[in-house]
Amino acid sequence: MTPADNAAGLDSFDLVQPATGRVHARVPLDSSESVDAAVLRARAAFSAWRETSPFERAARLQTFALKLRQSIPELAPILSAEGGKPVVEAEAELEWTAGTFDYYASLARSRAGRVAPPVSASGMSLVLREPIGVVAAILPWNYPILLWAWKAAPALASGNCIIAKPSPETPLSLPAVSSLLELPDDVHSIVQGGRAIGASLVAHRGVHKVAFTGSSHTGKTILRVCAERAKRCSVEMSGHDPLIVWDDVDLEVAVDAAVFAAFANAGQVCTSSERIYVRDTIFDAFRDRLVKQVATLKVGDPLDRSTDIGPLISTAHRDRVERYLTQALDRGAKIECGGKRLSGPGSYFQPTVLTGLRHEDMNALGEIFGPIAPLMPVENFEEAIRLANDNQFGLSATVLTSSLDLAMRAARDLRVGTIWINNPLMDNVAAPFGGFREAGIGRELGEEGFDAYTEVKHVSIEFALKQQHWWYAARKALSGLA
Ligand code: NAD
Repeated sequence: MTPADNAAGLDSFDLVQPATGRVHARVPLDSSESVDAAVLRARAAFSAWRETSPFERAARLQTFALKLRQSIPELAPILSAEGGKPVVEAEAELEWTAGTFDYYASLARSRAGRVAPPVSASGMSLVLREPIGVVAAILPWNYPILLWAWKAAPALASGNCIIAKPSPETPLSLPAVSSLLELPDDVHSIVQGGRAIGASLVAHRGVHKVAFTGSSHTGKTILRVCAERAKRCSVEMSGHDPLIVWDDVDLEVAVDAAVFAAFANAGQVCTSSERIYVRDTIFDAFRDRLVKQVATLKVGDPLDRSTDIGPLISTAHRDRVERYLTQALDRGAKIECGGKRLSGPGSYFQPTVLTGLRHEDMNALGEIFGPIAPLMPVENFEEAIRLANDNQFGLSATVLTSSLDLAMRAARDLRVGTIWINNPLMDNVAAPFGGFREAGIGRELGEEGFDAYTEVKHVSIEFALKQQHWWYAARKALSGLA
């Protein structure tokens, strides 16, 4: 339950800053009437926007990327203050956002469809990609700008209009960032609110496609609503991702990689490493070095450039992470380091390393979405791959090894949407991102992420109108029956 969900009937709500626990803004809330009006305006804007040339759309997206890069020093603190992300990571998020707009500007100019082999020598088959119409983007709080960009950039590049709904936990950065877009009125707009506003946008008959990132629970609710109306829908949902550490790597570098994979953005990344399987022969050495390295992480004010880990998004979310820890301890987990909230204001939690959980315990406990890293020893690589795959979600997996043989076996056998060999959490805007099983349906990024915002139309052309031998008239003439 978010502040906005509690604010039924109100026209604004108080936003609490995770680092201080104090109210730092009053945020206006939309109503179902204002959602309705936004959809009507977007539909009206669509007829002209879809007819703009790809060159014009590409130029507008590139201009935005340029202005965004110049504005990172002013925008990063807004993103950092509202969500608690260290300001250095907020700057990186904005830089990746600019890169996403650059990439889709180039696809706007190069990806229009294809020519298929025709069925007759005097014919041609065009496969056209056209915009779908009005897109609703429902966004989470952990990467409020980047995950907007993964939707807005391809949607706008391919000629759609878009209405974005930020999470009520992070409502401030998107209006600031998107004010740099130079687009015709209502091609891009924002509605603010929680579950109720999201639900009215998703269900609206004037919305043609829903693009969602968030929890599995919400994603499945949205899928059901979209199925009812046969509405286009892509959902990026929860993750519970494995990291496999093998005994042929430089232990010190492997520890640094694991620290980043588990604790970046305080573990609030859908692809955070939340199940760490370590070759049993190096388990004790890896655990000891990891604990030593975690002790060097600086937890504190996200606006301080030397901070590694900021607060969790809210006290409610910290309570959730603490409940995970209590349940893990009930199942026999041992805290190797961390395990406590920080005293004083703000929703801080120490980076925590756990041992003693079995694979079944980790699966039963589910997604953590916080700074807790459970480690478990494995005897052989086959076991590591089997356990990695044995999970409800299949978003990503990381493997640290210097063996080409093991790396290629992992690439072949892991049943997940993204596999990182020796470089965890490294997204590539030109390659697709999404999950197997309950991690999601559809892909963002890459050419696949552009195609997700298009309808495919086949245009079958015969150069001239002439009788075809399978038509009734021609058939009769040929058989002398005419
Ligand atoms: P959430 O599902 O609670 O909320 C996501 C968004 O959906 C918010 O904007 C919320 O207001 C809205 N919403 C809630 N109920 C709705 C409804 N019935 N109809 C329409 N909209 C509704 O998720 P969150 O807490 O913001 O984000 C954390 C979750 O997101 C984690 O589970 C994480 O794994 C997942 N996540 C996944 C990816 C990915 O790419 N797979 C990326 C980031 C986060």
